[in-house]
Amino acid sequence: MSINTEVMESFARLWVWRYIRDKLPWYYEVSTNRKPAKYLIAARVPVDEKFRELSEGDLWREFDNALGEFLSLWGRVRNNEVDIRSIPRATPSLLDLVVEITRRMIRHCEFCEWRCRVDRTGGRRLGVCMLDTTSRVATYFHHMGEELPLRGTMGSGTIFFTSCNMRCAFCQNADISRDRLNGVPMTPRQLASVAIMLRLEGVHNINWVGGEPTPHLHNIAEAINLMAREGIKVLDDLTDEEYEGILMVKSDPFMYRFSRDWAFYGGEVNVPMLWNSNMYMTESTMKLLRVLMDIWLPDFKYGNDKCAFRISRTPRYFEVVSRNHKLIYEWGEDVIIRHLVMPGHVEDDTKPVLEWIAKNMPGVLVNIMDQYRPENETDPHSRNYNPEFRELTRRPSREELMEVYRYARSLGLNFEIISFEKKMDIAYLGDEDSLMDRIKDNGNAY
Ligand code: SF4
Repeated sequence: MSINTEVMESFARLWVWRYIRDKLPWYYEVSTNRKPAKYLIAARVPVDEKFRELSEGDLWREFDNALGEFLSLWGRVRNNEVDIRSIPRATPSLLDLVVEITRRMIRHCEFCEWRCRVDRTGGRRLGVCMLDTTSRVATYFHHMGEELPLRGTMGSGTIFFTSCNMRCAFCQNADISRDRLNGVPMTPRQLASVAIMLRLEGVHNINWVGGEPTPHLHNIAEAINLMAREGIKVLDDLTDEEYEGILMVKSDPFMYRFSRDWAFYGGEVNVPMLWNSNMYMTESTMKLLRVLMDIWLPDFKYGNDKCAFRISRTPRYFEVVSRNHKLIYEWGEDVIIRHLVMPGHVEDDTKPVLEWIAKNMPGVLVNIMDQYRPENETDPHSRNYNPEFRELTRRPSREELMEVYRYARSLGLNFEIISFEKKMDIAYLGDEDSLMDRIKDNGNAY
């Protein structure tokens, strides 16, 4: 076995899969190159040759027809009834159609539920995210801090876009989310090159995040289409200037080696796409993402609209975010839900969110996150501090966290492995059984 294959195999053999592989079956197969990512399947679904002449309404009708074919093909791939390597790529394909729809949508932008309806291609007004059509990337790297199935052994290939459509007072990435001019502008070809480079360096997924990735949907869709259509040629065709542009914001502490061993399915670049989002997008955006994403990493922050508006300036939060979570569940997608426990918000937010998940998405993986810390408007030492958020100026207490874990357990949520794995990984490596016993028997250990 070559050293490169060994790296991939070490990911496939991670202890965590013993407990959660059945929850992330598609992601596992794609990440280990046993199956093709959804974008490679969508690239095989043909659409009307003259789709660019269609009205936006007719584009959506064409999309709905092609979606049926895509889902059928995806199902057959999952059941090992078909090998897409024997199916030629379609021209034009469902991916071309998705790109075209995003180009039309951005002229009256409704990517997210702010529904600003501004023309981002050159109109005189900007929307809440303050973005035109350009996407800027603040940084990208092999992220070793994500959940174990995502960071694996070689990291999650995380691409941080600037700007956001929410205004969380405690945002830990405010330099990115509130400064839309941070980082460097990247074309879809540069984005595709970044994703391909990261995969050649061994990452287990491409993690589209920000700020928030939703306002960048058009460029992400085009980048993914380029990956499907041109593969590694995308990299070869970069000009020196474009290449230097993307290297400027790469933040890995050392150089990783390129290897094709873990990057290809047949002759095509293959990597699972991960949507790391606040989930405040429209149903139309959700439908497009269904074709592009292999795994979802949604935030579910608030259990009521009052807190969402007060702390994150986001209206209709619960209705929108719960709807989108429910879609993910109904569609049978792979998902890890993140919920951040905030001090003083266990009753108003954490408990209602956990109850909703238990009732509407039973069995899904949940990461109950304990790492809240005061930042930005909630940090008394920050020049942005706003005394309106006095209750958020501390970390959640041990008692609050214990209460949350007890409550999650009483609801039967599937949260322990994902929420505690970092502590487990360090303290109990090589002694899984006692680790599991300890988790099950003694929540107070944490
Ligand atoms: S992405 Fe959302 S916030 Fe930005 S312009 Fe579009 S609808 Fe408005």
